[in-house]
Amino acid sequence: MSGDTREIPERSGTAFRMAAGERLVVIDPRGEQVADLLAFNAADLDEVISSGRTLDYAETIYLTTGHSLYSNRSRAMLDIVEDTVGRHDFLLTPCSYDTFHHFYPTLTPHRGCFGNLAAALESYGIAPDRIPTAFNCFMNVPIDGETGKLRVLPPISRAGDHIAFVARMDLVIGLTACSAPDSNGGTFKPIHYRVEPVEAA
Ligand SMILES: [Zn+2]
Repeated sequence: MSGDTREIPERSGTAFRMAAGERLVVIDPRGEQVADLLAFNAADLDEVISSGRTLDYAETIYLTTGHSLYSNRSRAMLDIVEDTVGRHDFLLTPCSYDTFHHFYPTLTPHRGCFGNLAAALESYGIAPDRIPTAFNCFMNVPIDGETGKLRVLPPISRAGDHIAFVARMDLVIGLTACSAPDSNGGTFKPIHYRVEPVEAA
């Protein structure tokens, strides 16, 4: 890890603030590891990242460099400015106790990204019921265009791949190293991230 890069240990999460103009780089240090990303307007927590708005405006479910992540109020919250992977998911909610019961009834349940996000966001005054669909960095969810059938496959990200965002407003960010076996190729790895200052004009 270099400089100000921070690590989110496997199956955990964190929350932090970032200012408008700052750049968030989310790195998959070992490959095949998902990171769930949430964003709230730091000045008004009722404004929150919206999958529905974003996919509507992008006219695609596969978001990459050049796309923005929109809020429930149709304002851009984050612009995707770099992406070495090109495959992420914005359809599925964070994994949770309930999704573990549903998909992995024989495994010990884990609170998952949902529980990790809820714990990390609590100190910002964000209650669990306000957690929306996350932007799932590196998550690989191909869709059959005819039937609509979706699958969760291992990420195509390799060690060192990253996606970078520029904040369009002051934000509270939630970010995880995902805990669900199928989303991460069957093993759990850390996620690295760093917040870089506003670039000089
Ligand atoms: Zn997860």
